[in-house]
Amino acid sequence: MRFGSFGPKPEISVVVPCFNEDAVLPETTRRLIVSLEVIGRPFEIIYVDDGSRDNTARLLTELHGSDPRIRVVRLSRNFGHQVAISAGLEYARGAAVVLIDADLQDPPEVICEMVDLWKQGCDVVYGTRQNREGETAFKTLTAKLFYRFINRLSDVAIPLDSGDFRLLDRKVVDALLSMPECDRFMRGMVSWVGFRQESVAYDRAPRHAGDSKYTLWRMARFAVDGILSFSIAPLRLATAIGVASSALALLGAVTAAGFGLINGQWMAPWGWVVLVVLLLGGAQLLCLGILGEYLGRTYSENKRRPLYFVRETLGFDEPLTPRAESLLAELEPKVRASLHPAD
Ligand code: UDP
Ligand code: MG
Repeated sequence: MRFGSFGPKPEISVVVPCFNEDAVLPETTRRLIVSLEVIGRPFEIIYVDDGSRDNTARLLTELHGSDPRIRVVRLSRNFGHQVAISAGLEYARGAAVVLIDADLQDPPEVICEMVDLWKQGCDVVYGTRQNREGETAFKTLTAKLFYRFINRLSDVAIPLDSGDFRLLDRKVVDALLSMPECDRFMRGMVSWVGFRQESVAYDRAPRHAGDSKYTLWRMARFAVDGILSFSIAPLRLATAIGVASSALALLGAVTAAGFGLINGQWMAPWGWVVLVVLLLGGAQLLCLGILGEYLGRTYSENKRRPLYFVRETLGFDEPLTPRAESLLAELEPKVRASLHPAD
């Protein structure tokens, strides 16, 4: 069995992806344990070491040695934040799983509030950042623009200003694990699966220590991944430009011909050449757009996502266990006899 199990099965799993985070890990662990002790349910903390090159690996081994509720999944190399989270989800055993960054930008104390909402029946509780202390104006602005842009382009509504800090119910975790796509834009995927989702607002703190692992280049790639995984709008760009260009050419031709016929003033030959080029260019772009539509469908099919998830069913009860069946068979004649004594 993959999961060695010591002690009671955890009710709450906390998944923490770490890439070169030795500067923050002791403090992160301390605050996580305090918050989780306050909640008072059995828990586990799963650190996913995403190919760290500093002292993270050694530190995690020590932490596990000091408290068996701390478990470690070490990836073979750096696969990136989103893959590290997915790995953590796969190893988590809790009925609720909390995703949180290692750098204490998301305060572990908020987990108490998340668990409260979960107990009230929410399946996803995501944190929304009220303000972002200690982050550059550039990062705040690009993040704001990004979330608004992606929501315009894609069909799933990704909550504005939310990161990966969230609590997921077991059914949502199982739903996410059943989505086999390789480009894993987790916050989009969580929105896509549906279920009952609520938010809690919190103030985002500055990084406790160490530097951001998201360089400008990584952030750009992350944004492109998000847009491409959740929208085929860029493929439709060709169709839009093609239609506009052909329409312009036709309008130009009709105007020029009308002008020539009525006034006898014909457009210079190069003008007609421009119109023909515009028309042909438009036709080509339209054909590219058609290819794009097929490509988009192939792309969606290729992700092999489940078609839907069921939140609840009514009237499809589980079949009775054999023991319950035999009890029922024994009881039924007696009940009948008492109801119809004359029979
Ligand atoms: N992280 C990771 N793998 C990576 C990059 C980041 O596991 O390749 C982790 C990192 O250790 C942190 C979280 O992802 O726990 C978020 O990263 P970071 O705080 O650097 O991003 P930012 O908050 O600056 O966007
Ligand atoms: Mg951070």
